[in-house]
Amino acid sequence: MSVSPDRVKPLNDRAPREGDFVLYLMQQSQRAQDNDALEYAAAQANRRDLPLVVCFGLTSYPEANLRHYTFMLEGLAETAATLRQRRIQFVLQLGEPSEVALKIGRRAALIVTDRGYLRIQKVWRKKLASAARCPVVDVESDVVVPIEIASDKQEFAARTLRPKLERVFEKYLVRPPKTKLEKGSLGLELGGEEISSALLRRLQLDDSVPAVTSFFRGGTGAAETIFRRFLRAHFRNYREHRNQPQTSDVSHMSKYLHFGQISPVWLALEARKQKNAGAKNVASFIDELLVRRELAMNFCHFNEAYDTYGALPEWARKSLGEHRRDKRAHVYSRAELEAGATYDPYWNAAMREMRVSGYMHNYMRMYWGKKILEWSPSPEEAHATVLAINNKFFLDGRDANSFANVGWLFGLHDRPWPERSVFGKVRYMNAAGLERKCDIRAYVAKVNALSE
Ligand SMILES: Cc1cc2nc3c(=O)[nH]c(=O)nc-3n(C[C@H](O)[C@H](O)[C@H](O)COP(=O)(O)OP(=O)(O)OC[C@H]3O[C@@H](n4cnc5c(N)ncnc54)[C@H](O)[C@@H]3O)c2cc1C
Repeated sequence: MSVSPDRVKPLNDRAPREGDFVLYLMQQSQRAQDNDALEYAAAQANRRDLPLVVCFGLTSYPEANLRHYTFMLEGLAETAATLRQRRIQFVLQLGEPSEVALKIGRRAALIVTDRGYLRIQKVWRKKLASAARCPVVDVESDVVVPIEIASDKQEFAARTLRPKLERVFEKYLVRPPKTKLEKGSLGLELGGEEISSALLRRLQLDDSVPAVTSFFRGGTGAAETIFRRFLRAHFRNYREHRNQPQTSDVSHMSKYLHFGQISPVWLALEARKQKNAGAKNVASFIDELLVRRELAMNFCHFNEAYDTYGALPEWARKSLGEHRRDKRAHVYSRAELEAGATYDPYWNAAMREMRVSGYMHNYMRMYWGKKILEWSPSPEEAHATVLAINNKFFLDGRDANSFANVGWLFGLHDRPWPERSVFGKVRYMNAAGLERKCDIRAYVAKVNALSE
C-alpha cells in the first residue's frame, strides 16, 4: 500500500539525479503522523537507499503575530521530537520556505513538499520548483479529497460541491502507510535552529496579541487529546448544539487543522468509529469537516482574488452597492470594535472570547461578522475590517476557511434573501434571533468567566 497517486503532483520536470538524501519541505502539514507528504518522501528515500531530511523555513507570514507563532512552534517542537524517534532529522532555519529548501536541497536527490492553496503558499512552491536542480513533487496531505479531483471549478455553494465529494470520498478516507526508514539522517551536518522561546524573541513579532497556550497548546498530541475528549463527552450533542454558543460541544480542531498539526482523514475516521454517537452527529461533523472546509479550499484555489471584496458574488455586490447610502444607526471604528466597546453586550462578549482565547463559537462568528457589516461606513470597509480582525485574533485565522467564511457574511456560497436596509439581499442576523434561538445570556456569562 502506498500514498494515493491522486495526491501526488510533479512541480517540475527535472531529470532524476544522485544526491545525499531526500528532502521534505514541511510547510502546510506540520505533523509527523498521518502525513501523506512525509510518508511519500520516506518511501522515496528507501527506494533510493537514501536517508530522509525534513526542513522548515521560519519566515514572517502575512498577518501572523506572537499568538500564531507560539502555537506553531509548540507544534513544531513536538513534530521535531517525533521525527527524531524515526531517525529523521528536522532542520528549522530562518528564511522563506522555498529559500531554505533550495539551500539545504542542493544535496538532495528529490524534494517533496505538501500542498497549500493560498497565494503565498503557491508562490513558494513555484519558486522552489523553478530553481531546484532536482525533481520537486507536491503531495496533497491536508484535505480528504484532492482539490482538483473534487471539482475543476469554483463551486457555487456547499450544495453543489457536496454530491461531488460524496461520490468519491470513501476512496480517499485512507490513512497513509507509515514507512520505516532504512537509513537515518540524524548524523548529517545541516545546521538549523533550536526551537525555543529565545527563537521566538529573535523573530521580533507583533506581541500586541499574546499567546493563548493556557487555552490551547499547539501540537498533534494536544489536538488528539482534545479530540478524544470531544468524542467522549460532547459528540452526542454535536448536531443539536452546533448553533448553541453557550455550550462547548464542538471539536476545537480548526486551529490544529490550520497549522496542519492534525490530519482531516484521521479526524473523519475516528469520528466514524463512534458507534454510540448517533448517525446524525457523525454525518453533521463530517459535513463540516469535509464539505464546508473543502468548499473553502475550492474557493481559494479557483478564485485568485479570494481575499478581496471583488471575489464576492455579483448579485451580492450589486445589492450591497444599492444600499451603500442607507443610514447606519451605529458606526464603529476598528479600535472600538477590537476593544469590544459597542452598545451590544452579546457582540462585545463574542469579541472578548476572540481577543482573550483566540477562538469564538461558529454561531457567534456569524453574528459578529454580520454586525460589522451593519456598523461600517461601506460594505468594502466592512469586508476589510472583518478579515483583518479575524486574522489578527483567531488561532485558526489566515486560513482558506477565514476567507471563505468572511465572504459568506457578504453573500458568498449563500443565496439572496428578502431585501432590507444596509444588507440589501444579503442574509441578516439580529440580537432578537440570538435570544430566541439560544441561551445567549449563558454565553455572555461563560465568556465573562474566561480569565485574561
Ligand atoms: C465570520 C466567520 C469567520 C470564520 N473564520 C474562520 C477562520 O478564520 N478559520 C477557520 O478555520 N474557520 C473559520 N470559520 C468557520 C468556523 O466557525 C470554524 O471553523 C469553527 O467554528 C471552528 O471550531 P471547531 O473546530 O470546534 O468546529 P467544529 O464544529 O468542531 O467543526 C469541525 C471542523 O469542520 C470545519 N468547519 C466547521 N465549520 C465550518 C465552516 N463554517 N466553514 C468551513 N469549515 C468549517 C472546521 O475545520 C472544523 O474544525 C468562520 C466562520 C464564520 C461565520
